[in-house]
Amino acid sequence: MSKIHIIGGGLAGLSAAVAAVQAGHSVQVYEAGPAAGGRCRSYFDRELDCRIDNGNHLILSGNHATLAYIDAIGARPTLRPSGGARFPFMDVTTGATWTIAPGPGRIPWWVMQPSRRVPDTKVTDYLSVLALRKAGVQATVAEMLDDRGPLYARLLEPLAVAALNTPPSAALARLLSAVVDETLLAGGHACVPVFPRDGLSESLIDPAIAFLRRHGSDLQTGCLVANLHRDGNRVTGLVTTIGDVAFGPADQVILATPPWITAGLLPDLPVPTEFQAILNVHFLLRHDPGPVGFIGLIGGMAEWVFVKSNVVSVTISAANRYVDLPASEIAARTWSNVQAALNIPTTMPMPKYRVVKERRATFAATATQEPLRPATRTTLANLALAGDWTATGLPATIEGAIRSGRAAAAAL
Ligand SMILES: Cc1cc2nc3c(=O)[nH]c(=O)nc-3n(C[C@H](O)[C@H](O)[C@H](O)COP(=O)(O)OP(=O)(O)OC[C@H]3O[C@@H](n4cnc5c(N)ncnc54)[C@H](O)[C@@H]3O)c2cc1C
Repeated sequence: MSKIHIIGGGLAGLSAAVAAVQAGHSVQVYEAGPAAGGRCRSYFDRELDCRIDNGNHLILSGNHATLAYIDAIGARPTLRPSGGARFPFMDVTTGATWTIAPGPGRIPWWVMQPSRRVPDTKVTDYLSVLALRKAGVQATVAEMLDDRGPLYARLLEPLAVAALNTPPSAALARLLSAVVDETLLAGGHACVPVFPRDGLSESLIDPAIAFLRRHGSDLQTGCLVANLHRDGNRVTGLVTTIGDVAFGPADQVILATPPWITAGLLPDLPVPTEFQAILNVHFLLRHDPGPVGFIGLIGGMAEWVFVKSNVVSVTISAANRYVDLPASEIAARTWSNVQAALNIPTTMPMPKYRVVKERRATFAATATQEPLRPATRTTLANLALAGDWTATGLPATIEGAIRSGRAAAAAL
């Protein structure tokens, strides 16, 4: 029986594997790391003595491929009950708070209600978001959105930085447009935050591996693919750290590795070469600060604060500007933002923390990098590419990774 060999056990590889198994194929996934999940995973942290996620990940109900994947692997029960489409924000310099609460329908009646929109904005300000749809190939977010008013500072800029992980002065407007079209402009039903109850791996990774095994396929960890054997325009085998794999005549391969690894395996392939970091700071509190869920911050170093029981985690995106600062400085600066956001007395000393620096969290979503994103098919007849960095039409996100995996499986 022919097999689909999938290199890389991140979300793109797992989504390709699940789609291939659903289509009746037998699959073998090769993952270099000690656990699957890649940039979206949970692990036991010795300093904090508990399991944490490598970083907070926000999924929205409009991410339809992600939810279809969650359903396919039977992971819906591992999600937290939804709190509805509500996005609380705080300006840590003034203490001002507001909550964006899009209504359920596609027609945004909610912007008529001052209590549901950004303070000091007018209904007509929201029309500026439609300008994104007219963005040319090179246009940046800052060029397409009016960056002078409160709507930009208090909603559009934080949204753009979180979605594109690139400073708005360089980030491609059409990638933001793709995200906004499927979420904010689709109505509140597409903007409900979706969170794992326990962790990223428990909801997105482990159930996928269990699904593969239930269907007679497998994922091997600690197995780095170092080279591809080729004959003409076909891949005929793999060189791995635990031995060579010879392909049968009808075997196929999906390369779901990060761009810099893919470039090593396929040296003629152009790939993105510039990246942006994401920083996460996890604080272990002695008390449970309450059911806040998450809050967006402006005016500080911390951009989003997520509360999961007594672990409070801070996210900072487009973080090349901060990535070389010492962890102790990043923790101290973000702890004061957390105190403001969660109303923690300033006298409370900083608790135990872990700073996770993902230096190459995503490719930089810029005009120079976008043309370097390859299509699913290559010149090799039995090979397809997957990964959030391939030409998905979306920025580097879970949704993009999952769609790329499905596209690769479909292409083969
Ligand atoms: C801190 C952080 C926060 C994020 N927040 C969000 C968010 O809020 N919302 C959102 O939608 N997205 C977010 N993302 C992006 C999201 O995590 C990624 O888009 C997604 O996980 C990418 O999946 P992937 O499979 O394309 O790549 P990866 O996860 O990088 O998977 C590639 C896999 O290949 C393996 N591999 C590498 N080389 C080899 C080899 N030679 N042989 C075998 N295996 C190999 C790697 O170990 C890895 O497991 C965030 C990312 C980070 C880092």
